Amino acid sequence: EKYLVPADPELAAAIRGEEKRQREKLELIASENFTSQAVMAAQGSVLTNKYAEGYPGRRYYGGCEYVDVAEDLAINRAKEIFGAEHVNVQPHSGTQANTAVYFSVLKPGDRILGMGLAHGGHLTHGFSANLSGKYFEGFAYGVNSDGFLDYDQIRKQALEVRPRMIIAGASAYPRVIDFEVFAEIARECEACLMVDMAHIAGLVAAKIHPNPVPHANFVTTTTHKTLRGPRGGLILCQEQFARKIDSAVFPGTQGGPLMHVIAAKAVCLKEAGTKEFRSYQQQVVKNAAALGEVLKSFGFNLVSGGTDNHLLLVDLRSKNVTGQDAELMLDDAGITVNKNMVPGDPQTSLVTSGIRIGTPAVTTRGMKEKEMEQIGTAINLILSHPGDQGKLEEARRIVDKTCADFPIYK
Ligand code: PLP
Repeated sequence: EKYLVPADPELAAAIRGEEKRQREKLELIASENFTSQAVMAAQGSVLTNKYAEGYPGRRYYGGCEYVDVAEDLAINRAKEIFGAEHVNVQPHSGTQANTAVYFSVLKPGDRILGMGLAHGGHLTHGFSANLSGKYFEGFAYGVNSDGFLDYDQIRKQALEVRPRMIIAGASAYPRVIDFEVFAEIARECEACLMVDMAHIAGLVAAKIHPNPVPHANFVTTTTHKTLRGPRGGLILCQEQFARKIDSAVFPGTQGGPLMHVIAAKAVCLKEAGTKEFRSYQQQVVKNAAALGEVLKSFGFNLVSGGTDNHLLLVDLRSKNVTGQDAELMLDDAGITVNKNMVPGDPQTSLVTSGIRIGTPAVTTRGMKEKEMEQIGTAINLILSHPGDQGKLEEARRIVDKTCADFPIYK
């Protein structure tokens, strides 16, 4: 503030606006969170000035003695928390992490089998418009009519497709993923297994969701979702792939690492090893379950009937409202969610029949089951009574009070 306001008032105003938005609205986007001030302090530090191509102890630039410390701290903490043999902390994002894994062991045209976008998968798991579907031949598996992964079907498909790599992990799957079964399937069809745990990394760190690391050749994640760190990515892999992964990140697909972000990843990974972090993750899961029950009591349909993790996928067809409209109506009352395809969705990806709701950010603000009841009530007031101004005002009052009672960055 002190430096930005005089130097660039327009930008300072945009940041102030965003800060107010975060403070005054309920953030229910499942992939977002509020980092600690320590994470932000590391990210806003002089480390942003440093070039450090290469890895600790073998850089292409001088003067790396301090950034080496930061990178080693991040690496060692990630190894410890997830039990990984090798860690690369340089990917600028989850997408960069996934791309580097593909380039480490695949050749252009190789087959990859990942969860379909419309079923909860991510763009980078072989979708045609993404590099992963342009350079490789992408095949997609999905969920059954109950919204659960059907491992027998995935096995059958994997044995037919014979992919070089199977990708497990999702952006909108509310249930536990069985990595052991994925590993068996990969062995049966002689494929590598990559697990993208971006959404559930915090739950895995807190030992609330099974850890994919013992089962997969490669595990990727973002650091900014449930893990509550800076925006960025990580790759964890078996020692046998260490060199390949490191050279696929640099010089394969990236240049100089973002040392200020790596420093912030180190801070976040230190926080992720604490008792407080474990209790936080337990509350995230309890809150998602509580919110799901409230919504069900108001007649909302949840894909798979509920949740085991931090998110809910709500199928809005029973309420006769599209995901697109729901996102706008909720935002108008100060509740931020994102529209999301549901399995078998008749709508396009821009319209959709569902919304995805996550509890990581509101739980960071300190909210518990009681507030989930309030939030569920507000969501119902809005989505079950479109156009009713009185109900909208009632919902807005709930949002204002909850936000005021649970400030961020006190
Ligand atoms: N993988 C999964 C499962 C995701 O949900 C996401 C982001 O939403 C990513 C990867 C991509 O991360 P990023 O946006 O940092 O590239």
